[in-house]
Amino acid sequence: MNFEEPEHITMIRDTVRRFVETEMPREAARKWDKENHFPRTVFDKLAGLGMMGLTVDEGYGGSGRDIPATMVVIEELSRRSLAVAVPYIMSACYAGMNLGECASEEQKRTLLPKVAAGEVLFAYGWTEPDVGADLASVKTTAVRDGDELVINGSKRFCSGAAISDYIYALVRTGPADARYKNLSIVLIPPTAPGVSITGIDCMGMKGAATTDVSFTDVRVPAWNIIGGEDGWNRGWDFIVGSGLDVEKLEVAAIALGIASAAFDDSWEYVQERKQFGRAIGTQQSIRHMLADMRTSLHSCRLMMMHAAWLAQQGKTCRLETSMTKLHLCEAGKKIALDAQTIFGAYGYAKDFDVERYVRDSLLMPIIGGSAAIQRNNIINWMGLPKK
Ligand SMILES: Cc1cc2nc3c(=O)[nH]c(=O)nc-3n(C[C@H](O)[C@H](O)[C@H](O)COP(=O)(O)OP(=O)(O)OC[C@H]3O[C@@H](n4cnc5c(N)ncnc54)[C@H](O)[C@@H]3O)c2cc1C
Repeated sequence: MNFEEPEHITMIRDTVRRFVETEMPREAARKWDKENHFPRTVFDKLAGLGMMGLTVDEGYGGSGRDIPATMVVIEELSRRSLAVAVPYIMSACYAGMNLGECASEEQKRTLLPKVAAGEVLFAYGWTEPDVGADLASVKTTAVRDGDELVINGSKRFCSGAAISDYIYALVRTGPADARYKNLSIVLIPPTAPGVSITGIDCMGMKGAATTDVSFTDVRVPAWNIIGGEDGWNRGWDFIVGSGLDVEKLEVAAIALGIASAAFDDSWEYVQERKQFGRAIGTQQSIRHMLADMRTSLHSCRLMMMHAAWLAQQGKTCRLETSMTKLHLCEAGKKIALDAQTIFGAYGYAKDFDVERYVRDSLLMPIIGGSAAIQRNNIINWMGLPKK
């Protein structure tokens, strides 16, 4: 058994750390959060380092699909700002991973080189006003009309729709009673006539603003069906394929990044902040909290390494990725809240990054399959009879 981080991943981690320090200073991260702003120029520089190519095979212009390395990039970016980390996921993962897994050869040849160059971002259009966890009941429809599709319906919490090139939309393509069978995934440009986008004001994850999107007689070429003609009515297969394992890890990697930042800031603060004539880091209650945070972070890191390794090997890992998603998001939330306790009143003030870590970490158990859904899946896969 070898627990050492492979050399090439350490190099990627160091490169992203240096990038974050020079291109994503703390003051900038605070500003992006406050203004709900996507720093496109920073994103473009990140693409210039080849980071989007980590999910794209060499034959399509990438450096070869490397899931552990991709998770490290997400973690390192999330330590500083989700305004860059989430658009990175929209590009490398939503576009790169999904196209690599599910697209037709022609779609791969057309789009993947652009993904590797940082020129394509996808927004996920899955959730709808009446559809949350139960995705198979989506109501947005796509109907064939010659070489085109006509789309009607609406999507909710479609994060980054306004900065995306395509909404990767789950749509109903046949009678609703067949549920899982009559679903397809279609690429819808947010600029197409008939698409309208309205912001939803949320607590955190600023930068890739989440939105309501409505489609009124939106026409796209049939070419935009993911998987080509073979992908028609195969949307559910694509959603529950191995891409879902990686998607769970993406959210877990964000949680890990935020928790690491919360721990690091706490570590410095307890040595600087003095009360009763001594640093608060000398108080047993604070010392124990830091010991627990560090222990929890260690368990998170090991789970992530293991699950990402399994996914990279192409091994069955739905159980491990669900456990990783569940544990890292719950533990990450607790670490952020503990950091807020350590910072006292300052952890509640917007001038301190801990306040943002708390807002951002609260989201992680909700998105990408809620904590309750992960628990359902874990226990069902463990095989405990329900009756
Ligand atoms: C900031 C933000 C960004 C988002 N970005 C995107 C995005 O880009 N694209 C996208 O498609 N969606 C996005 N979402 C939506 C997110 O994925 C959904 O919130 C999530 O799928 C859950 O749906 P829901 O919130 O409607 O909860 P519901 O499904 O209505 O569930 C409500 C509660 O009931 C629980 N519950 C539901 N069913 C079960 C069950 N079977 N067993 C046990 N408990 C259950 C849930 O865990 C939850 O606690 C985003 C949400 C937010 C807040």
